[in-house]
Amino acid sequence: MSLETLLDKRSSCRCELCSSEEGLSVYNTTSESANGKNSLLVCQICKKQIIGDLPLDSNHWRSLGESMWSEFPAVQVMAYRLLTQLNQEAWARDLLDQLFLEDEVLLWAKSGLVLQSSESDNVKPTKDSNGNVLNDGDSVTLIKDLEVKGANFTAKRGTLVKNISLTSNPEHIEGRVNGTQIVLLTCFLKKVIG
Ligand SMILES: [Zn+2]
Repeated sequence: MSLETLLDKRSSCRCELCSSEEGLSVYNTTSESANGKNSLLVCQICKKQIIGDLPLDSNHWRSLGESMWSEFPAVQVMAYRLLTQLNQEAWARDLLDQLFLEDEVLLWAKSGLVLQSSESDNVKPTKDSNGNVLNDGDSVTLIKDLEVKGANFTAKRGTLVKNISLTSNPEHIEGRVNGTQIVLLTCFLKKVIG
């Protein structure tokens, strides 16, 4: 039986979150390949809000009050994740309090939430003057003469700096120029590619 057939049968061809019969497709709650356990059938409106194409419409998700009682873990997982994201709403907090998940299912639900929050907390990448991402160990050249304060020399335009180190500030890197380890502003650098 194909995954779609399996899910159609399980859900009686309805969105497993809001019961809509329109535009159903498979949504996979994990990064593993979709299967009957980790996937569920959702409508376009639910899917767009889940993946962030549409903002969460709290009225739409009132339907979770029913669907969260589904016997299928993938549906429980989505109910947990959505209610957590809607937790500024009193009704969503109430439902979340009533939602009991097995330990394994709870971990599964939370793993998806961690994934989302770590994406939004992403540290800004360090980039050179052309927008190329810089990494530890890269080589760069200076695109202008730079006075090196405190070391009393000028680092000339075109100077090659090998084996740079990133710092906690995405606008600064460290590298060795004239035998001295200095901090360089990334806006004056060009990555040596290849
Ligand atoms: Zn739906």
